[in-house]
Amino acid sequence: MRKVRHVMGISGGKDSGALAIYLFEKYPHLDIEYYFTDTGKELQETYDLIRNIETHTGKKVIRIEAAEKSHEDPFDHFLKLYGGYLPSSNARWCTKKLKLEPFEDWVGDDLVVSYVGIRGDEDREGYISRKGNIQSIFPFRKNIWSEDVISKVLKNSNIENLITWYNDHISVQKLSRTQEVVNELISSRYTIKDKLNDLLDIDIQAFNKVVFEFLKTTEYPLAYEGDFALLDNEDNLVREDIFNILKDSGVGVPKYYEKVEFEVNGLKGEYARSRSGCFFCFYQQKIEWIWLYEQHRELFDKALEYEKDGYTWMQDESLEDIVKPERMTQIKELQIKKLQKNNQNKKSAYLLDLLDDSEGEGCASCFI
Ligand code: SF4
Repeated sequence: MRKVRHVMGISGGKDSGALAIYLFEKYPHLDIEYYFTDTGKELQETYDLIRNIETHTGKKVIRIEAAEKSHEDPFDHFLKLYGGYLPSSNARWCTKKLKLEPFEDWVGDDLVVSYVGIRGDEDREGYISRKGNIQSIFPFRKNIWSEDVISKVLKNSNIENLITWYNDHISVQKLSRTQEVVNELISSRYTIKDKLNDLLDIDIQAFNKVVFEFLKTTEYPLAYEGDFALLDNEDNLVREDIFNILKDSGVGVPKYYEKVEFEVNGLKGEYARSRSGCFFCFYQQKIEWIWLYEQHRELFDKALEYEKDGYTWMQDESLEDIVKPERMTQIKELQIKKLQKNNQNKKSAYLLDLLDDSEGEGCASCFI
């Protein structure tokens, strides 16, 4: 039987940090290789988090770097190859070249189970590797399986197999309801998501065992494993749980998430950074650029140096323009309004809890 590697990428964000701790504590027998793909432009807080995780788990986090032989940082190396063309959400060469490709090179053709920290309160799959020898698992969600697995296991032509597998794994009391759900055909009125949720509502562990039976008929990496520890996983962890894992373990929450107070025209507001990744990441919101300017001026100045030959980090304005006094005031006032609108009855040390729209965009490799 081919050996299967279990790996987990730590981005420097709260969710992957918490997942590393969670897996280490809940599934100590899983031999997980923790890794970090370094763009060379990460925040210091990311390195601090990785060091703390290494101390907590006693395991080394493997550093992977694109263009290892280059004398430049990975990002600068590729920026030169792209002729100074700054990446953007529409041309995200950075994630591909600096995160996904080095990871895929590192695993090569090995069979790999890759654990991803997307939470139970998020409705997204993330930007993850689609190579056939890499299978993603999402331990923080009720549905730990990836979209591609679910679409295959629940397709209408598989109903007979599902009935057979369920017969072996569901209790007598739940059998008739399960058969009813399994026999219902997927259609525009009864979507795959509806079916998935109905089956999870009946019995998560039984569903996982049935998916595992299905995997044995495929070439997915888990087909080569005799058993899988996470089949018993029924957790559904949300943002608050993530912060608690980081705090309770002593690893700590990366400092950039902590809100900082500012004042504008006599009004008080708060800002913070909502994600890990490169300090100049184009996914950051305008208020986060202001945070960078006022809280990490040296990093802002470095980001500014990249804006030349008509290339800018934001599509609609340059960094030079965004920090003009009247524009900064405008952005801060908008932030205060947004906070007032979202703030009712919410008390939290983290802006992310108050501004629910500040994460979600981007990729699993950089931000989770
Ligand atoms: S953090 Fe942002 S800039 Fe850096 S690699 Fe990821 S998407 Fe690109």
